[in-house]
Amino acid sequence: IYKKVLSRAPKTQIYEILSEIDTIISDCDGVMYAGTRSLPYVQETYKLLRDMGKQFFFYSNSSTKTRKDISLKLESIGIKTEVKNVFTASYVMAHYVANYHPYIKKVYAIGEEGLYHDLREKGINVIEGNQHNHGILKWDFLNEIHMDDDIGAIVMGYDANFNYLKLAITGVLLSRPQCLFLATNSDDYDLIDGHKHPETGAFIASIEEFTKRSPDVVVGKPNPIMFNILRERHPEIRPEKTLMIGDRLDTDMSFARNSGLKKMLTFSGVTQVKELESLLPTDIDYFIHYLGMLYEGLKL
Ligand code: PLP
Ligand code: CA
Repeated sequence: IYKKVLSRAPKTQIYEILSEIDTIISDCDGVMYAGTRSLPYVQETYKLLRDMGKQFFFYSNSSTKTRKDISLKLESIGIKTEVKNVFTASYVMAHYVANYHPYIKKVYAIGEEGLYHDLREKGINVIEGNQHNHGILKWDFLNEIHMDDDIGAIVMGYDANFNYLKLAITGVLLSRPQCLFLATNSDDYDLIDGHKHPETGAFIASIEEFTKRSPDVVVGKPNPIMFNILRERHPEIRPEKTLMIGDRLDTDMSFARNSGLKKMLTFSGVTQVKELESLLPTDIDYFIHYLGMLYEGLKL
C-alpha cells in the first residue's frame, strides 16, 4: 500500500507510473502554486512532463479569474501554456449555460468581473450583482428585479461583496420555479497563505437557508462536465490514461472519480499531510507532498 506514496519512491517506480499516463489535468492553487507563494520545482516538473510528451491542462475552481488571468499567473512562475488549455469554473459555467440552456438569454450574476466576462463572451446578457454593493435593502432595486421576467437563472460564484441586498434578490428570483439556480463551485473555504477564506459554498448555504432552494447544478469540480468539454475538443483523450492532480478531496479527487481518471493528491494545499494515513485505504492512486517531488525524485 505504501507504493501509493510517491514522495520517496524509487525512479523506476515513478517512471513506470508516468508511462501509463499521457494526459495530465492539474488543479492550480495548491498544486502549481500556493496562494501568493510559489512551490518548489514546479517549473522543472512541468518541463520534465512536457518533455516526456504529456499533454497538460489546468483546471481551477476559481470563478473570479479568467482563463487568461490564470495563464498569465502560470506564465509568471515559468509555466507557458495556451489559454485554451486552461479551464476555470466560470468558463465552464458560461459554456454550460450557452450550450445546455440556450434559451436563457439573461442571468443575474452574483460574482466578480471574471464571471461577468466569461458569461458575456458566450453572448449571455448579464445583470451584474455588483451594482448592488449596498449592505442595506433598497426596495427600488428589489422592484426592478421583480419586474424583470426575462432573468432565466441566478449564476452564483465567489463574491467578496456578497451582502444583504443580493441575498434579498435571490429570494425574489428563486421564488420563481422557472428561474434556475446555478453555481460555479461549492468549495466551503480556500486556504490562502495559511488562512481560511470563505468560498462560494459558504455563500450558497445562506441562500439555501433563505430561499429553501439548493443549486440546480454546480458546474465546477467535482462535476465531470469539464472533462466532457475536453473530450469533445480532444477525442483522443482516454480517461484511464489521464491523471488528475489536486489538493482537495471534495473537488479534485471527486472530479477525477466522476470522470474515471487516475488520481494524485498533493499535500501542498487544503488537505493536510496528517490525513495521509486515513486516506491510504481509499481509491486515491498516488500521494505526493508537493508536485516538485517528481522532479526531485527523477533528476536530483
Ligand atoms: N476560488 C477562488 C475565488 C480562488 O481565488 C481560488 C484560488 O485561486 C480558488 C477558488 C481555488 O482554485 P483551485 O481550483 O485552482 O484550487
Ligand atoms: Ca486547489
